Amino acid sequence: MGFLAVKIMKFISKPFEAVQWFNLNDHPAVVPIEPVFGSRLSTELSCPYCSLKFETHGRLLPNLAKSTTLVCPSSWLVQNFDNSISIYPNIYFSQMFLPFYPPTLPNIPDTEKS
Ligand SMILES: [Zn+2]
Repeated sequence: MGFLAVKIMKFISKPFEAVQWFNLNDHPAVVPIEPVFGSRLSTELSCPYCSLKFETHGRLLPNLAKSTTLVCPSSWLVQNFDNSISIYPNIYFSQMFLPFYPPTLPNIPDTEKS
């Protein structure tokens, strides 16, 4: 109940680019999880977030990451305004965002143009 004293506002996001990641090669910024996690985690272990084995995961190149760098299969990679990349698990992404289809201009025949 922390918002009782303030005015609650609603927001809608500007259109942005996102890629759903499933495999290495789906996005150039995602590389195999080793060697960063390799010394501590076996790729045979299961991920606490998605329960899939770590061998199916990738990691975001550190210079592009805002926070976590672990990329679970089906996560969405969102290009931020500063060219960094944020990772959204699919369950959150699909609850927060809708696809954006740019409006198309009507096709006006040449004879009607002035
Ligand atoms: Zn995972």
